[in-house]
Amino acid sequence: MSKLEVKNLHVAVMDEEDKGQPQQKEILKGVNLTINTGEIHAVMGPNGTGKSTLSQAIMGNPAYKVTEGDVLLDGKSLLKLPVDERARAGLFLAMQYPAEIAGITNVEFMRAAINARRPENDQIPVMDFMKLLDKNLALLDMSDDIVERYLNEGFSGGEKKRNEILQLMMIQPKFAILDEIDSGLDIDALKVVSKGVNALRGPEFGSLIITHYQRLLNYIIPDAVHIMMDGQIVESGGPDLAKKLEAEGYTGLRNDLGLDV
Ligand code: ADP
Ligand code: MG
Ligand code: MG
Repeated sequence: MSKLEVKNLHVAVMDEEDKGQPQQKEILKGVNLTINTGEIHAVMGPNGTGKSTLSQAIMGNPAYKVTEGDVLLDGKSLLKLPVDERARAGLFLAMQYPAEIAGITNVEFMRAAINARRPENDQIPVMDFMKLLDKNLALLDMSDDIVERYLNEGFSGGEKKRNEILQLMMIQPKFAILDEIDSGLDIDALKVVSKGVNALRGPEFGSLIITHYQRLLNYIIPDAVHIMMDGQIVESGGPDLAKKLEAEGYTGLRNDLGLDV
């Protein structure tokens, strides 16, 4: 079993809005979260509340400066590790806006990512890789021409999202952070994406699913739901919390909690 812990995490970004000297702006104001493998946690919250900041800080994007607190994997701080080492340690981030990478095909990328996490004398045999790829393409109802294309180049929004899930299923990280993987997906694509995540569910896999809407959580039933507002987790509960939010909206929940944010 593995454990991903976010402890009293404070994160700041450089705010360059008012032209003058860039100011450090605090976005996360003490976030606490523990996810074990075998669990799926959802983080919900209004726009601009710091959900993507949380995922970027966990993954180690240097634009997001941790000013206090820690992120630990199995008790070991990740804060000094660059993004690629965090990936090798078992983290995976599917981004709200997946990047295009010219000059590397999707299949090359996935093999490299898998092999980077394995010792040099134990790289994945090509046949095993191809078998796993075929199995996952079938499960995700994807055609195999997508794997020979350059990564994300000219992919539609839906293709990018499906492809992120394909990568996730191939790489099999310990922990996957899915940042608004549902945004812009039609219901069929949403079902496919959910099928992929549900197929990964098991004792060796944990996930943090970030979403603005409850809809995705009808397909991926989370073990825990956390509501984030103004850089903090203000409420945690089970799947019912997402339903309550759907019914009341963020404004209703704010009132319920007596929040003034
Ligand atoms: P959410 O994902 O919940 O919509 P974000 O984490 O994207 O929220 O953003 C939270 C706040 O941090 C917003 O005010 C946003 O403008 C600011 N922010 C996020 N990333 C950056 C960045 N790289 N540079 C400057 N400001 C940022
Ligand atoms: Mg946003
Ligand atoms: Mg976001």
